[in-house]
Amino acid sequence: MPARVRKTLGRHPAPAPELARLLKESGCTVALTGAGISVPSGIPDFRTPGTGIWENVDPFEVATIEAFRRDPARFWSFYRPRFEALGDVQPNPAHEALSELERRGMLEAVITQNVDRLHRKAGTRRLIEVHGSIDTSSCTSCGTSWSLEEVEGLFDDAGVATCPHCLGGVKPDVVLFGELLPEAAMAEAQELAARAELMLCVGSSLEVHPVAGLPGLTLASGGRVAIITKGSTPYDDDAAVRMDGDVVDDLGAVVAAVEALHLG
Ligand code: ZN
Repeated sequence: MPARVRKTLGRHPAPAPELARLLKESGCTVALTGAGISVPSGIPDFRTPGTGIWENVDPFEVATIEAFRRDPARFWSFYRPRFEALGDVQPNPAHEALSELERRGMLEAVITQNVDRLHRKAGTRRLIEVHGSIDTSSCTSCGTSWSLEEVEGLFDDAGVATCPHCLGGVKPDVVLFGELLPEAAMAEAQELAARAELMLCVGSSLEVHPVAGLPGLTLASGGRVAIITKGSTPYDDDAAVRMDGDVVDDLGAVVAAVEALHLG
C-alpha cells in the first residue's frame, strides 16, 4: 500500500471537527506556537540534528549571551548569514490559518517562541514574542535600535555589528541562551494563558520553560488544551484534541471544519 494511502487511513477523521467545535464554544482562545510551525517555511528546528544552518554549529554554544560578550565576531559570523536567510523567508499556510482564525474573532492572540517574524508577516495582529524577534537589534550601551535590514550597515572590518554613535556592541533583540525572557511579554503570556478557555498549542514540544508552563496555567484555571504537534509533549494526556500530522494539513483541516460549522 502506498505510504500516502496508509497515512490517510491511519488518521482519525474526528479531531479537526472536534477542535472547530471547541473553538466556536470558547470565549477566549490563545495559540502558543513553536519551531514546528515554521518548518514548512524552510526554517529548520534546531533540535533536529544535521539540518540547514545549524548543521555545523551547536546553538547551545554559539547562540548564548556569553558567546556574544566573549567573542562577538564569532557570534556574528553565525548570526549574520542567519539574518540574511531569515529576512526573505515567507509565512506558510499554517501561519495564515492562525491569522484567519484571529480575523474571524476566534483567536485572541498568538504567543510564539519563534523569532522569525512569520506570524507578523502572515497578518497576526496580537502577537507576543516571548523569545524576542530578529525584527530589531539594539546597542547594548546606548539602546539605539535598528531594523533587520539596517543591521547589515553596522558591521566593522572584523565582522562585528557596532553602534555608530557610541561604538557599543549591537545585539539582536532575541533571547539568547543564558538570558531571561522579557518580563512584560511573559506577564502578558501568563495572563492570557490563565484567562484562556482554550489554548491551541502548535508546533511546540512544550519542553522549554517557562513557556512550557503556559498550558498548565490554562488547565489549572479550568480551560482546555489542544495540541497540533509532531512528537510527544508533556500535555498529551490532558489534551482535549491531539493532532500529530503535518502542521499545514492539520491547521488547514481545522479552518475548513470551522468554515463548515458556519455554513451548517
Ligand atoms: Zn550605542
